[in-house]
Parts: sequence; C-alpha cells; structure tokens
Amino acid sequence: MAPIPAQADLVVVGAGNAAMCAALAAAEQGVRALVLEAAPEDERGGNSTYTAGAMRFAYDGVEQYGEVVPDLTEAERTTVDFGAYTEGQFFDDMFRLTEHRCDPDLAEMLVRRSRETLVWMRSKGIRFQPSLGRQAFKVGGRFKFWGGVACEVTGGGPGLVEMLHRAAKREAIDVLYRARLTGLRVDDQGVCAVEVEQEGRKSEIRTRAVVLACGGFESNAEMRARYLGPGWDLAKVRGTRFNMGDGILAALAIGAMPAGHWSGCHAVGWDLNAPGFGDLAVGDQFQKHSYPFGIMVNARGERFVDEGADFRNYTYAKYGGEILRQPGMFAWQVFDAKVAHLLRDEYRIRQVTKAQGDTLEELVGRMEGVDPDGFVRTVREFNQAVRVDVPFDPNVKDGRSAPLGVPKSNWANTIDAPPFVAYAVTCGVTFTFGGLRVNTSAMVEDRYGAPIPGLFAAGELVGGLFYFNYPGGSGLTSGAVFGRAAGNSAAAHVRRLRGA
Ligand SMILES: Cc1cc2nc3c(=O)[nH]c(=O)nc-3n(C[C@H](O)[C@H](O)[C@H](O)COP(=O)(O)OP(=O)(O)OC[C@H]3O[C@@H](n4cnc5c(N)ncnc54)[C@H](O)[C@@H]3O)c2cc1C
Repeated sequence: MAPIPAQADLVVVGAGNAAMCAALAAAEQGVRALVLEAAPEDERGGNSTYTAGAMRFAYDGVEQYGEVVPDLTEAERTTVDFGAYTEGQFFDDMFRLTEHRCDPDLAEMLVRRSRETLVWMRSKGIRFQPSLGRQAFKVGGRFKFWGGVACEVTGGGPGLVEMLHRAAKREAIDVLYRARLTGLRVDDQGVCAVEVEQEGRKSEIRTRAVVLACGGFESNAEMRARYLGPGWDLAKVRGTRFNMGDGILAALAIGAMPAGHWSGCHAVGWDLNAPGFGDLAVGDQFQKHSYPFGIMVNARGERFVDEGADFRNYTYAKYGGEILRQPGMFAWQVFDAKVAHLLRDEYRIRQVTKAQGDTLEELVGRMEGVDPDGFVRTVREFNQAVRVDVPFDPNVKDGRSAPLGVPKSNWANTIDAPPFVAYAVTCGVTFTFGGLRVNTSAMVEDRYGAPIPGLFAAGELVGGLFYFNYPGGSGLTSGAVFGRAAGNSAAAHVRRLRGA
C-alpha cells in the first residue's frame, strides 16, 4: 500500500465520476491532485461504477448529438431518430420534477454546461454510444428516443470508471486506496489539512485545497433514518457501501452551509431479495423499471401510484419511496403476455423474485404476502376502466388511461392475456439529495454565504439541485459538470497560493 504523504497541493476525496473529473480538470491547469479513496481498489469508484452510464445532456439535433457521439454508423443515422433534447427541455424537466425548488444558478450550470462537459470527457478518452437498448423503442422500423437520455458511456459505469482512472494514470495522478477522509482542518487562510485513516492508522496531509467528491449519506443507515425518516434505515442500498456521509459531516464540522432536500433521496423499485448493498456482478439489474406497462400492487392487493404518470425517467426516482411507505415495504409489479416483450433485460436476470400463473388466482397464490381477494378485485376494476378505444404507443404519452381513484394516465393495458407474471420489489436507495451549499465555482459556502477558502465540492454531496424527484441520467452529468468546475477552481486557488 502506498504511504500517505505529509503534504499535497490538492487533495481530491473520492474516486468516482465527480472526483476523477475534478482531478483531471486540475491536471489540465498544472496542479496534480492526490486522490483519496475509502474503498479498496477492486471496489473503487463509488456509485459511478454501479451505473449504466446513462448521461443526460442538451442537444438541438443530430449535429450537436454527434459532438458527443461522433462515430455514428450510417445505419444508426438512418434507423435512429435522435430528435432533440434542448436546453429549454432540460430546464423544464429540472424545475417541474423538483417542484421548482432547484437552485436556478446550479441548474443553469448543469444544463448549459452539459454537452460541453461530455465533449471534454471525450477528450479525456471517455467513449459514448447511443443508449438504444434502454432509452428508445423501435416503432415502424426506427428507434425513437423518449425521456431525454440518448447516450450512455461505452461499458456502462464500470467502463466509465476504468476510462477515468486510465486518464488519471496518464496524468500521473496518484490514488490512495482504503484511505478515508475523517476530518478537515482550517487555519486563518482556510482549509489547510485533511485527516485521513488508512487501515486503522490516522494521519494528516497538509494541503492548499480540497475537493470533496465522496458521495452522499445513502450507505449510512443511521443518517438515513435521521434525515430521510423512519423506515429508511431498512431500505436496500443500490450501490456502494462507502458513501457514509463523511465528506458532508467533515465540511459541516468546519462551518459549511447545509443545502438542498435533506429529507429527500433518489430511490427506486429494487428486487425484494437483493442484498443490502449493491453487487457489482449484477450492477443496476436489480431495478425493475418497466412498471409503466403494468400495474403495481401492495400487500392489500391495491394499486398505490399512477404507474403511467410520465415516462419512466421522470417517475422511477420517487416511486422507491412510495413502495417504502406501503405495508411491509414491498410491492409486486404485474404484467400479462401482451406486454411481456416490452420488459427490460433486468426482468430476465437469474436473481429475480418472480411469480407466474395462468389465471389471476393462480398468480396471486404465488405472490407472497398479497391479499388474493383484494388483488383480483383490483385487476377486474382496472381492466374495466382501461380506455381501450385509445391506441397503445410506448414512445409517447399515449393517453391510454384507466381513470380510477388511483389513475393510470398512460399505457394502460388490460391484464387478461395469460401467462401472467409478477415481480416483487422493495425500496432501493440510490443517493441522498441533501448536501453542501456551493456557488457556481463549486466553492463550498459557509453558514453566512461566504466561500470557505480552499474547499470545493462536486457530485452527490452538492445540495440544491434535486428535490423530491430527479430526471434520469442527471447524476453523472452533474458529477462531471461540477467535478470539472471544482477541479478548475481548486487548481486556480492552488496556483494563487503558489504564487503568493
Ligand atoms: C445502481 C445505480 C445506477 C445508477 N445509474 C445511473 C445512470 O445510469 N446515470 C446517472 O446519471 N446516474 C446513475 N446513478 C447515480 C450516480 O451513480 C450518481 O449520481 C453518481 O455516480 C455520483 O457520483 P459521485 O462521484 O458524486 O459519487 P460516487 O461515484 O459514489 O463516488 C464517491 C466516492 O467517494 C468515496 N468515498 C466515500 N467516502 C469517502 C471518504 N470518507 N474518504 C475517501 N473516499 C470516500 C467512495 O468510495 C467513492 O469512490 C446510479 C446509481 C446507482 C447506485
């Protein structure tokens, strides 16, 4: 294990997407960061490694899309309708989904710098491809994107982290593994040192600047219960076990301003029998995201959300919380044979909790924990309510609804074609929304709104961007945009001090 040095100009805490973007940006400015990673090398990269690598960015047509994904084949150009996802649409999504609470300055930075930041990542060796498998449907022989996410990193999350670390190696950026930030030290000039623990040994690194990019508090059951509320300690964690809120706590301890939605988080429907933390061999495949094409019922056999309220990208991040609030904290997603072909790949993994039956009664007999009478009644009422006169179209919000007390606004199909299948889900926490207040230079602010000299932050631990909900594919883009900004600002700060 590499020894902990006594001094480093810039310390970047974390080794996921936000952290590595910060380190790479600083290197461009001639400042070589020392990266501290709490995890061992084979678990490096935090939640970024667990992702599918989907990244949301604004583009006004195929030309701008091509700046990020330049090597489109002729076949892709002719068989794919890339459409556009304009800055205006990205803004609308941010404000609508966060119920108009997102910080306008931070949102502006995310939206307006989204494309240029992905182009910059390309210059560092990150490769992108169209996300046809997950974010587009084929209609009339052409793929058409829906929901604003049209690209993903080649190789998904593991590919992203691998390529970022390869780029860091080219810049001779050192990463210390099993090295956990435990505290920050300040003097009259601002942040002057980080406290580190490695394999039980405590040490201190004197430094000129620190970029905190070490995730939220989603892995920490005590903090989840304390801030998200009762029951959240029992949720499963979709990704890394290392995001314990250390960076947030260390910054608050030196007077940083808390910001954002501390009682909110991103949480999805996740296999009921998934392990307590993510499993890199399975990645994000414990998620079950095809609910817009079926119904979700709770232990009483009753529906409890509008499964078709919007495209999956705009509802999935808040429906985990709705599942957590159901009796027993579980739900079953139910589909019939008419829509089975639309189910995403994650429904076909080996580690799935599934029931099947040729009748509704047979099916519910296998759906553990569900009241059979309630379930059969729910499906009958639902089937009668479906607007079968409206054509079904998965690519648009088709208005094929089931106007009930709990409505289904789009993609309602009767559940009457056997075999019937059901998948058991619980709540899987992705990341927490509460964090630190930063300005548009990614400088952490103190409780009175003044920047704390030498302290910068990026990624999940930035508060103020996401409230209640989240547009899918924004987490990695936010990490990259703010990571790059934090790296640039931190490097400028170091250079100023070097010159002083
Ligand atoms: C299963 C899953 C799928 C997802 N899919 C997508 C997707 O497709 N697209 C998308 O945009 N977002 C997705 N997300 C969300 C996305 O992962 C996050 O928004 C993003 O990766 C956060 O990046 P980050 O760099 O801030 O944090 P992380 O990638 O979590 O990195 C934090 C780093 O800090 C380290 N660390 C923690 N504490 C310390 C400490 N005290 N000292 C030193 N190091 C520390 C961790 O080990 C880790 O390396 C997904 C998340 C999960 C869990």
